[in-house]
Order: sequence, then C-alpha cells, then structure tokens
Amino acid sequence: MAVDPLIELRDVNKYYGELHVLQDINLTVGKGEVVVVIGPSGSGKSTLCRTINRLETIQSGAIALDGQPLPEEGKALATLRADVGMVFQSFNLFAHKTVLQNVALAPVKVRGRKKDEATRRSRELLERVGLATQADKYPAQLSGGQQQRVAIARALAMEPKVMLFDEPTSALDPEMINEVLEVMQGLARDGMTMVVVTHEMGFARSAANRVVFMDAGRIVEDRAPEDFFSNPESDRAKDFLSKIL
Ligand code: ADP
Ligand code: MG
Repeated sequence: MAVDPLIELRDVNKYYGELHVLQDINLTVGKGEVVVVIGPSGSGKSTLCRTINRLETIQSGAIALDGQPLPEEGKALATLRADVGMVFQSFNLFAHKTVLQNVALAPVKVRGRKKDEATRRSRELLERVGLATQADKYPAQLSGGQQQRVAIARALAMEPKVMLFDEPTSALDPEMINEVLEVMQGLARDGMTMVVVTHEMGFARSAANRVVFMDAGRIVEDRAPEDFFSNPESDRAKDFLSKIL
C-alpha cells in the first residue's frame, strides 16, 4: 500500500541543553493514516508533536509537510502551521467568547474567511462534535468533555491537513473520555490524517493504522497495532505494556 506521505521526519535530532530529547527520529505519516504515539512519561512524545508543528526548533534533520520542507520562520511557516491542527490536554478556549465564536474566530483572522461563511461552517462543525445546542454558551458553562470537543471543532475549522492530539483525554473525568474518543474515531473514519499521543489503548487498537512506541527520545517500535499489542519486540515496550494493560 503506497500512500502519499503527509508528514515526513528524517533524522531529526533535538536537544534541550544537554538533554538529547529527540534522537534520530524517522517517521512518515501517510495521507489518511492514524498514528498513535505511546511511551513512558518524558520519552519525548509532546516534543515530537510540537516539533512537527515547528513550535520547537530542531538541531538537525528535516521535516516536510505535504511534500514541502517546513520553513524556518516567517509568513511561510505561519501558513504551513495553519495546516496542522493541534489539540492539547488543556483546552485553552477563549473564556470570554462563546463556543461558536471560539470556533469561528481563527478562520476569519488567519484564513481570511468571510464571517458569515465561517459562522455557518462552525455550526456544522459543532454539529459534528455533538454540540450544536451549545453554540451560544461560554466555555465555563460546559463540561470538560464538551470543552475538549469545542477545541477539536476549533482546530477543524482551520481545515487542517493533519490533526495532532497530545493526550486529549488525560485531563478529563473518566465518564467524559469516551465522548471525546468517539469524535476522534469519527474523524479517523472520515479519513483525517492524525497523530495521537494517548494512553487509551482501546483507541489505539480500534483506530490506529500504526502504533509508534517511544522511549528515551527514540522511536523503538513502529508497527500495526495488532502486532504491537500481541507481540511487542522490545523489552522496553513489553515492560511499558505490562504496566498499563
Ligand atoms: P512526554 O510527552 O513523552 O512525557 P516530553 O516531550 O514532554 O515527554 O519531554 C521529554 C523530555 O524533555 C523530558 O525529560 C522533559 O523534562 C524534557 N523537556 C520538555 N520540555 C522541555 C523544555 N521546554 N525545556 C527543557 N526540557 C524539556
Ligand atoms: Mg507529553
């Protein structure tokens, strides 16, 4: 199966001072692929996500998005970055804007969409994440799970080519985790390219095309979920799985 690559990292190395936080990272994510990234705390998963988005600089290696090298800075970088939607553990919604305004703002400001069009499209996205009736509320009036779904709709409003999720359900009460995972499952089914850092192994099994296991700044395994979970190759992955499953 040859899919067009959407994200390509080649021999990427990153340091924080003395700490070699990303070590010779090679990773290709094809169009429409869902890659779940797992690994112990501190292994570099969040840094990898931020690096893909160039929220972090790298010391060596190359990153390309949809065939284009990521520019170092400036307007070209801002444009490419707008193609990458990010959803974090903390939702970071604008507290003094309504749900609808939260979703519609960036398409107008960054993408230059007309306000009417952005509003119409934002309502569709809120429908898609199951929040059509909450459009005029403020974030504080919503549950954590609902706020995270707004954050997903907000990222989708930019019409990204890829969505990065960094532990999107880790801050949620258990009963709210599924409503967020279901939205993500829907995106995956619709063909969105996704990189998902998560400890939700059920999601990894059902939605991922590949599981990437990281440890100490390296990609240790990169395999189909059924292979990875039934037969992890490395001792480090075996040890990690024995602790979380
Ligand atoms: P993970 O998401 O897998 O838990 P991170 O990517 O957050 O791991 O962190 C990887 C390593 O880099 C950790 O040792 C962490 O302490 C360190 N680190 C993360 N961000 C910074 C930073 N801004 N400055 C210095 N060290 C950092
Ligand atoms: Mg992290």
